[in-house]
Amino acid sequence: MNKTTPPAPTPAAAATGRPFNELPLSPALLANLQQLEYRTMTPIQAESLPITLAGNDLIAQAKTGSGKTAAFALPLLTNLNPRRFAVQAMVLCPTRELADQVTQELRRLARFADNIKILSLVGGSTMRPQRDSLEHGAHIVVGTPGRIMDHLERGSLKLDALNTLVLDEADRMLDMGFYDDIAFVVKHCPAQRQTMLFSATYPEGIARLAQKFMRKPQEVKLPEQH
Ligand code: ADP
Ligand code: MG
Repeated sequence: MNKTTPPAPTPAAAATGRPFNELPLSPALLANLQQLEYRTMTPIQAESLPITLAGNDLIAQAKTGSGKTAAFALPLLTNLNPRRFAVQAMVLCPTRELADQVTQELRRLARFADNIKILSLVGGSTMRPQRDSLEHGAHIVVGTPGRIMDHLERGSLKLDALNTLVLDEADRMLDMGFYDDIAFVVKHCPAQRQTMLFSATYPEGIARLAQKFMRKPQEVKLPEQH
């Protein structure tokens, strides 16, 4: 018992001091956040979660390390019905490494229910095991646009039950020339859905993506913090 030492601040949580329990999140999800030592919201979470948990589309501009994964994971998980074994949410990421990171973080955040299946579908791995996994079913897929497109073309991925689409690191995906692949994938998503776009910068292409694929998106932009 050392009362003089304050608890170490969590680096990512540039603490807004605002607790997650002021949000309309399920008790199970809140308990899991506590378990993960997510004590207070980061600024991007505090700004965006009231918007996205109300069902709105969102364009968020924030730098790396600001806690964007949980910012989209919490509405995504809130929209999800674990008892419905179909792909209800999809996250597009620019690279295999980023897709794997998002998958790991989503799995931690999804631990409040013990049966949420999350698949990573990235290029550079053979198609066959991914197709087998998809055949067994999943609730959430995370992947790179090219590989997701491949699965859609072959019919191994069906998106009729999708209710949430996330474009993570959208500026990087555009830099890598993924615009057409993203457009192809989005056309396979149901029109009735929530779309969230996260980006570190706001180049012309982002505005084009938003105008084509989002429904009255609200914008959140965080000032650069150094
Ligand atoms: P970004 O996608 O913006 O680069 P991440 O979502 O990967 O950032 O988050 C960076 C790190 O901060 C991760 O290790 C994550 O677990 C942690 N983190 C995010 N939000 C919180 C929070 N509210 N409290 C504590 N840790 C958090
Ligand atoms: Mg990220």
